[in-house]
This record gives sequence, C-alpha cells and structure tokens, in this order.
Amino acid sequence: MFETLSAEIIAIGSELLAPDRSDTNSLWLTEKLNSIGIEVKLKTIVGDDDERLEEAIRDASRRSKVVITTGGLGPTEDDITRKVAARALGRRLLLDETILADLRQRFLAFGHVMPERNSRQAMVIEDAEVLANPNGSAPGIFIEHDGVAIILLPGPPREMRPMFEDHVLPRLVVRAGAVKVVRRMLRVAGLGESALDEKIAPIYTQYENPQTTILFNQTEVEIHLTARGRSEEEAEALLDRLSEQLEERLGDAVFSFAGEKMEEVVGLKLSVGRYTLAVAESCTGGLISQRLTDVAGSSKYFVEGVVAYSNETKTRALGVKTALLREHGAVSKEVAEAMAEGVRKRAKTDFGLSITGIAGPDGGSDEKPVGLVYIALADDAHTKSRKLMLPGDRQLIRWRASQAALDLLRRRLI
Ligand code: AMP
Ligand code: MG
Repeated sequence: MFETLSAEIIAIGSELLAPDRSDTNSLWLTEKLNSIGIEVKLKTIVGDDDERLEEAIRDASRRSKVVITTGGLGPTEDDITRKVAARALGRRLLLDETILADLRQRFLAFGHVMPERNSRQAMVIEDAEVLANPNGSAPGIFIEHDGVAIILLPGPPREMRPMFEDHVLPRLVVRAGAVKVVRRMLRVAGLGESALDEKIAPIYTQYENPQTTILFNQTEVEIHLTARGRSEEEAEALLDRLSEQLEERLGDAVFSFAGEKMEEVVGLKLSVGRYTLAVAESCTGGLISQRLTDVAGSSKYFVEGVVAYSNETKTRALGVKTALLREHGAVSKEVAEAMAEGVRKRAKTDFGLSITGIAGPDGGSDEKPVGLVYIALADDAHTKSRKLMLPGDRQLIRWRASQAALDLLRRRLI
C-alpha cells in the first residue's frame, strides 16, 4: 500500500450553517486533492465563531498533514480566519506593506479610496507565504507548521479555485509524491446491498488496494473502486484485475461500467440493434417514458408511452379485455402481459414494455399488498413477465419498478 497524505478541510462561515446554503468548496477541493493522491479524511463547517474556529484549526493541524480552510478572509468584522489561525498556531499577525500598497492600488484603479477596514486583508501570519488573488481583494496564506501545510483560502469559489490551482496544487503535488489515484464505478441491478456484499466480499476483501465501497443510490447499488499506483497505468491495471473478478462473479447483474445510467445502457442497446420500443405504464405514471426520453437521441428507438392509469384506459388505449381485468384485477400477471402486447401492437414496435402495481401508501390488501408490481415485456414471439415485491415508500416503489422494467428489457437485449 502507498503512503497517502491525509488532508482535512474546514469551511468557515455562519451562512454555511443555514438550512439553505451548502459548502460546495470542499466538494471541489476533495476532487482536486484526490486527483493527486491526497485523501480527505475529515471536513468541518464552522460558523464565524472565534473559539470554535480556533479549536477546529488547532485540532486539524495536530491530526492531518494538510489542512485547508476556505472563507473568512474578507474585510468585515466577521472575517476572522487570519486572526484566529494565527492564535491557534501561536504565531503573530504582521502587516504586510506590499499587500497594503497593492490593495490601495486596486481601489484607486476603480476610482475609490480604500476603506480603512480593508487594511486587515494585508495582515499576514508570521513566516507564511502570501498567495496572490487576481480575482478579489483577499490574498490567501500558505503556512508550514511542524510538517503540516496549513492553507487559508478565500470563500468565493471564483477566487478560491484559481488560487488553489495556480498556487496550492503545485506545492501539494510535490508533497504527495507521485501517487496516482484512479476510480471506477460499477452499477448493479436486481441485487440488494447485502446480497451483493455477500457475493463479492470474499473477492474484494483480499485487496487493500484497490479500496472497495458498496453504496446504495436510489435503487442502483453501486460498487466504487479506488486504486492507487505509481502511475495511472499501474492504478488502472489494479482496477482491471479486481473488476474482472467482480464481473465474473456477478455476471449480467452488472449493467454499467463507467457510470452510465440504466436508461442510457438500454437506449444504447436498442439503438445498436435498431429496435423500437413502446411503453405502457400504470403505477409509474410515465416515469419509464421520462427516464428513457431524458437520454438524447432517444427518438431513434422510443416511439410511444401510454400512461394507462384507469382500467377504462387500459381497455380503450391498450385493448386489455374487460373480462381479464375483472377476473384477475388490474395488478396481475395477465394484465401486465396484455398491456405489453397491447402497446406493442398499437405502436407497431419491436418491443412493448409494461408495468402495473400498487405504489401505496393506500390501495393494498392482504392478497395484493403495497409494493406488489408486475412488469412485462412483449416481442414478436413471446411475452415475458415478472412479479416483484418492492420495499419502500411510494416514490421508491415507483422508482424501483421502473428500474426493474428497464432491466428486464436490458437482459432481453444482451
Ligand atoms: P468569505 O470569504 O467568508 O467572505 O465568503 C464570501 C462568500 O463566499 C460567501 O458569502 C459565499 O457565497 C462564498 N463561500 C464561502 N464559503 C463557501 C463554501 N465553503 N462553499 C461555497 N461558497 C462559499
Ligand atoms: Mg464569511
């Protein structure tokens, strides 16, 4: 295993603790740090509060090799990062005459006299380097402190990003050494998180590098792999080896190898095979059609979507026999199959895909509980259906049903 530098990020600003604002700087920074092999182990959000911030900076500089703060470098009373960081590190704050002259000049260039409070932006922590800010008035600060790099960056993303890329990244690349980090994501259908883990844990636990994480994201269970190597090729080769083993174990359950969505995978298969598709939806209310048509170029294969919510519509639009509905009920294998055949016939497509079920929270019974869904796929020779018992609330049941239906078509197209 490679030695990796551990970093942490402190996002500073009381506004970031409000319910309607979020700290996006740390997301951007994490991606940049990861790309040079630095792992972010902790993120903190602190309001403009002297004591809490001092504690946060002091703790961070004890446990991490790289500490990055963003925000609080402005000219107002609540911009306390410089002052508090100096105190946390036991260093003095000194006025930098060059920065002060620059600041005055910046204001003059716009025809203003610099307000006195801006002079606090010319205060620099003792023995620190100043990072130029061409997009704003607050310079950044880079401090070497007992082998730890502490970096203070401005809060506005348009100032923080170029400063990080121009002045911080090159310095961190040198510290990180030549470790390359490469990621890959596999998406899996038809298996829950724990069923998946049971299958693949015996494989991935043999490796410390790549690192494997299993994540549940809506209905798509994702396998995230992260590999480190001396070069990108070396890291990619490690990923290839592990993902080949995982694919072998999981077979067709893996539907995405580079982050593609289910509807993209299905769309590609339809368009490569020059097939056309029509969809009849009851409980999903158009969700499958929406997902399919979210994909650019879907007009090549997606012909028609019918939302047949009522029984009357199932009969009128799809030709489902009233007797069938009466005998088996709208949520049944027979009706799902008749819907798939009906929509296929109506739209004259290669495939007809259908869905009928009970998304809840009401409408369930002992015989037909909430979560019961039938999906069916008709082609020129066969009609195939599946019965599903899906867990979750209304939203999740609808989403899972749409995923299962698309997956039925995907497997048919393999
Ligand atoms: P400051 O440097 O604290 O004066 O921050 C100025 C502005 O930068 C804030 O009002 C936000 O709009 C933005 N900002 C600060 N911190 C962040 C952050 N962590 N993520 C995204 N935007 C931020
Ligand atoms: Mg602020």
